[in-house]
Amino acid sequence: MIYMDSSKTKSLVLVVDDDPSLRMVMVAALKKFGFDVIEAQNGKSGIDRFLSEQPDIVLLDVMMPDMDGFEACKTIRQFPDGKLTQILMVTGLEDIDSTKKAFDAGANGFVTKPLNLTLLGQQVRYMLRAGNAFKELHINRSRLAKTQELAKIGNWQIDLKTQEFYCSAEAVQLLGLDDMETPVTLDDFLTPIVPQDWNRVKEAFEKAVKEKIATTLEYQILFSDRTPKHILNKSEIVFDEQHSPVMILGIVQDVSQLKRAEEEIRFLAFYDGLTGLANRMLFIDRLEQSIIESSRNNKHFALLFLDLDNFKGVNDSMGHHVGDRLLKKVAESIKNSIRKSDSATRLVDDKRQKDVMVARLGGDEFTILITDLKTPESAALIARRLLQTVPAVYNFNGQEVSVTTSIGISVFPEDGDKADILLKNADTAMYHAKEEGKNTYQFFKDSMNKAAFERYSIDRDLRKALQNNEFALYYQPKIDLVTRKIVGAEALIRWFHPSRGMIPPNRFIPIAEESGIIIDINRWVLRTAGLQSKTWVDQGYAPIVVAVNLSGYKLARQNIIESIDVALREINFNASNIEIEITENILMQDNDETISTLNRMKSLNLRIALDDFGTGYSSLSYLTSFPVDTIKIDRSFVMACTSEKNNLVIIKAIIAMGHSLGKKIVAEGIETEEQYRFLKGLNCDEGQGYYFSRPVPSEEFAKLLVKGRL
Ligand code: C2E
Ligand code: MG
Ligand code: MG
Repeated sequence: MIYMDSSKTKSLVLVVDDDPSLRMVMVAALKKFGFDVIEAQNGKSGIDRFLSEQPDIVLLDVMMPDMDGFEACKTIRQFPDGKLTQILMVTGLEDIDSTKKAFDAGANGFVTKPLNLTLLGQQVRYMLRAGNAFKELHINRSRLAKTQELAKIGNWQIDLKTQEFYCSAEAVQLLGLDDMETPVTLDDFLTPIVPQDWNRVKEAFEKAVKEKIATTLEYQILFSDRTPKHILNKSEIVFDEQHSPVMILGIVQDVSQLKRAEEEIRFLAFYDGLTGLANRMLFIDRLEQSIIESSRNNKHFALLFLDLDNFKGVNDSMGHHVGDRLLKKVAESIKNSIRKSDSATRLVDDKRQKDVMVARLGGDEFTILITDLKTPESAALIARRLLQTVPAVYNFNGQEVSVTTSIGISVFPEDGDKADILLKNADTAMYHAKEEGKNTYQFFKDSMNKAAFERYSIDRDLRKALQNNEFALYYQPKIDLVTRKIVGAEALIRWFHPSRGMIPPNRFIPIAEESGIIIDINRWVLRTAGLQSKTWVDQGYAPIVVAVNLSGYKLARQNIIESIDVALREINFNASNIEIEITENILMQDNDETISTLNRMKSLNLRIALDDFGTGYSSLSYLTSFPVDTIKIDRSFVMACTSEKNNLVIIKAIIAMGHSLGKKIVAEGIETEEQYRFLKGLNCDEGQGYYFSRPVPSEEFAKLLVKGRL
């Protein structure tokens, strides 16, 4: 409620007294002072007159029959209109008790009988003045409150001496704190803030109090009905006369609508109205961000520039509205192609949505930004996929329109380290693609085209390699460093390509991982190695442990356990003679799933070795939380172990730590006598390397087994 100034010229006084003569004297005296006066003879009728006439001041006799002055005073105070009225008690009793009672009942002052009539007039005038000032203050306050309510603003303050916190009713309402117990504390005040903002705001508050500084904060809250709201919180420091800070005064404002408007404006400014894709401005912005991030993290990213091959013809012959609809459809199929590209997803891990941005620069030009590429040529996989999905025959009201697209690719940082250059080079590459005969893609650099083509043809040929029996396993012996006896073998895959000759695993395994064909390769390796090991036993050699490499990609999702189980059953082989080599990056993946897969491997009686140890994120915690039997020290440490002190220290540490956890230690890549002696001296258990034997075909390995000792 807003209190308005009264426009009455004369103040109205109500005199309530049961003594008629005293009443008459008082009325006369007050009239003489220029007041309008009305009267009542007891408490009850006093209240009635109060309600009907709304006097500015009430003089209340204390001692009256029925309802005494205290009662009447209390009653008046309970009415909304009675809160700001001045009440003067007229008492015959001079004791402390009655004055206290008068104030407790809500009176503003009291006079005692016998009355000094001149003084009474003065006192009434004085009280009216004070009352008006009080009323005005109240009016201002309630106006402010109303304004704040309308503007959805609440205020709060922190006393810097006592740390006491206060927040206004509007703030309570605005933040949805109505259910909180009063008084609302600072902690209550911060409670509705969403978890992702909470720490930041809490810290800002603590800092503001500690350093006595003004702040401006924006954050989100969850209102009591769970709707999210955007809050602007601004504060100032209040200083006393000595210029020392005494208080932080703040306002909270609901700026949700403003935010929504901002978002709408942002959408209009940054998105293409036709397709809903990002527009040029947003794309360039993201491109620039990616340049900064990728240079910081030493990563590649690719920019695909896509242009429809025959859009102009469609637009000219069929009109703009058909052209527009076509662009919309193309935008959709680009998005779909990116979203569901199953094999391509593996290129850039699972964070796909975040790592790809599709934009329409204008006309029929689309761009796609792919960050966090494993290798630059991986972009070609996505381009190939787009070339398969985007071209289509569209039917608009019975008229058929067919489109194809050409794609140019530039790669950061190879093809430029500035947004405009990368864009220009992708555009140039796109023109080359058109020259190549359209519906194709081109990298900006020709060398990249070659690399991408090589990857592509490996990918294509890999699919046939298994059926055509082009793979073989080579075996490299593992030697007990003390006795030099052959105690095991590592099976290493070789691909004998019909036209390219032998392709080493490092060239095709990563591509097989990307396309998913690795799953079949892994199965084949397991089965072949198991069968071979069994054959050796059947031929009368003492059983040795054969190790196979299971490459990293999503171990848990390969149904690997089932394939191992099936493979071992098929050949009726004892699993304890098989060791699975995995790398640290497998352990880095989904932990729970990986642990359970490894545990299931253990329950099948398989042994597990951690390959290339020391090259990855090597952490001791792996060794305690994963069921690993063997640690293989990576070749890079062994290579320079006798010359570089660092490597020596690392090898010593790995061996000591591994042994203390009960693991077996194997050194990879021993090439010299010196390295052998050195590792033996450090109590390394087993070794493997050209010094003993290169990986050899199975028939040759059998000859090594005959020797038994190397
Ligand atoms: P890895 O498991 O660390 O295998 C050891 C590699 O080091 C082998 O290379 C081996 O030939 C080589 N090597 C052994 N001793 C020496 C030495 O004294 N000096 C030098 N310079 N090199 C030595 P390879 O066979 O080319 O295999 C490379 C990688 O390919 C393997 O590393 C493994 O990660 C992967 N790989 C090999 N076979 C398979 C397989 O059947 N399946 C899967 N998924 N990955 C495989
Ligand atoms: Mg290995
Ligand atoms: Mg290795």
